[in-house]
Amino acid sequence: MIQIGIVGMGVSGITMACYLRDIWRQQNSKIKLKLYLFEKEESFHYTGPAYVTTYSSHLLNVPAKSMSPFRDDPHHFIRWSQENGYCYQEMSYACRSHYGKYLLHLKQTLVSQENIEIHWVQDEIIDYQEHTLTGKKRIYSNFHYTLFALGNLEGHKNIQVNLKDGHSSCYIERPWKELKKINEFSSEKIKSILLLGTGLTMSDMASYVHSLYPEAKIEAVSRHALFPTSKKKDPQGTEFVATNLAESFKLIDLVHEINVFRKRVRRPSFHDFIQQIRHHINHMWHALHQKEQRQFLKYLWSFWNVERHRIPQTLHEEMCLLVQNKILTLKKKRVRKINDELMSKFDLVINCLGPTYHLSRIHSPLVQNLLLKKIIQDHPLKMGAKLNEWGTPNHLGSENNHLFFIGNIQIGESIESTALPDIAEQCYKVKLYFEELLKNLESGRVGRIRDNSLQIDIC
Ligand SMILES: Cc1cc2nc3c(=O)[nH]c(=O)nc-3n(C[C@H](O)[C@H](O)[C@H](O)COP(=O)(O)OP(=O)(O)OC[C@H]3O[C@@H](n4cnc5c(N)ncnc54)[C@H](O)[C@@H]3O)c2cc1C
Repeated sequence: MIQIGIVGMGVSGITMACYLRDIWRQQNSKIKLKLYLFEKEESFHYTGPAYVTTYSSHLLNVPAKSMSPFRDDPHHFIRWSQENGYCYQEMSYACRSHYGKYLLHLKQTLVSQENIEIHWVQDEIIDYQEHTLTGKKRIYSNFHYTLFALGNLEGHKNIQVNLKDGHSSCYIERPWKELKKINEFSSEKIKSILLLGTGLTMSDMASYVHSLYPEAKIEAVSRHALFPTSKKKDPQGTEFVATNLAESFKLIDLVHEINVFRKRVRRPSFHDFIQQIRHHINHMWHALHQKEQRQFLKYLWSFWNVERHRIPQTLHEEMCLLVQNKILTLKKKRVRKINDELMSKFDLVINCLGPTYHLSRIHSPLVQNLLLKKIIQDHPLKMGAKLNEWGTPNHLGSENNHLFFIGNIQIGESIESTALPDIAEQCYKVKLYFEELLKNLESGRVGRIRDNSLQIDIC
């Protein structure tokens, strides 16, 4: 028997659970798989914060062709959508709530069957040690492997909040969790809205609050006041040749590649360039020295993100119209304090700043306990955890290779690790690991997992 725990049942956790079930099924393994799936949210319908919204204009920001969580079955989501009456095409931007239904469908396929035992556990895991997971409700022991798929965690974002009761109800700290609350104000009351941040969440929130409070003026603020654009057609007739992606690749080489690209294309744009190098970004990131990575984050990151992340064209057009009609104003400003003075100027303030990747600032008790026990370490760039290419903490040594971390916690190592195509890639790597492991166990090429003592003998 092999017992595996997956903590967090968003798309990463669901994908890994499906993969493990399929590996066992395909290899028709005689070794029993006991799978424990932990999720802290109470509703089984919850599939992660990105897909809770039921507002129909909230669309995915990645086209349907890239939203399959299974790298080895890239049309899986499109096929499901067609079988279920949504009929998305490759370049469609699906409704977030439909994607949530797709994930729920995947969850519902995770049921016990011959030699595979699946346990759904609603509990928040707050600690891990020695193959044992501590939940808020009880302790779960004897895990040979644990996969942490915790997703975007809430944390301190360099903003001080100091509000008296009267104002606190008009400040929305976690917009995706508080969508219902945003909807509950009387429309006469809401005339001015401040959105902190000008990225993807801001665009979604601007559209949402405008639909609820059409009379209100919206101000969105950030350091550079850059806001995302929509996907343009892939550039024609050019292809980035990954010639210089050797060990010695430097930031200056990236600048060089941009210049070469500009000469090659008639009307070049930075967006087109990023489209061309998309598949090489993580490779380039690895090749840069840490000093250059810091420089990149300091000087290029916010501009890069604007070009790198897309919003659907319909949303982009809506944003442009709001700006043109002076309903939405974008301002270069840094807000460091949410206090009564600020709140007296706006009827509603929504924090759209996105997640923090600095682990020490994350509020999750599990992450803090893992840090305290040195099971994970802050990445030197303060971007997620220090992990190896499989998502395991390599400072623990190979004999402790039974913990995997999937999702944006890998961001320091793989700068592209937040959207679904990146997550699908990470899950696929871990899948290959388990495929190999089971093959080896079946053929007796590696030591067996002993049932009673949790000594893991596998190479
Ligand atoms: C608003 C929003 C929109 C997005 N839109 C897109 C998009 O259009 N396309 C795209 O590719 N990406 C999008 N993303 C990125 C998105 O984060 C990823 O695509 C993906 O959904 C992340 O999945 P995940 O499973 O890693 O994390 P999550 O979806 O965050 O899931 C993590 C799960 O773990 C649970 N959990 C956390 N800690 C514990 C614990 N200690 N114990 C038990 N359970 C725990 C959480 O409750 C949650 O259910 C969006 C993100 C957000 C926030």
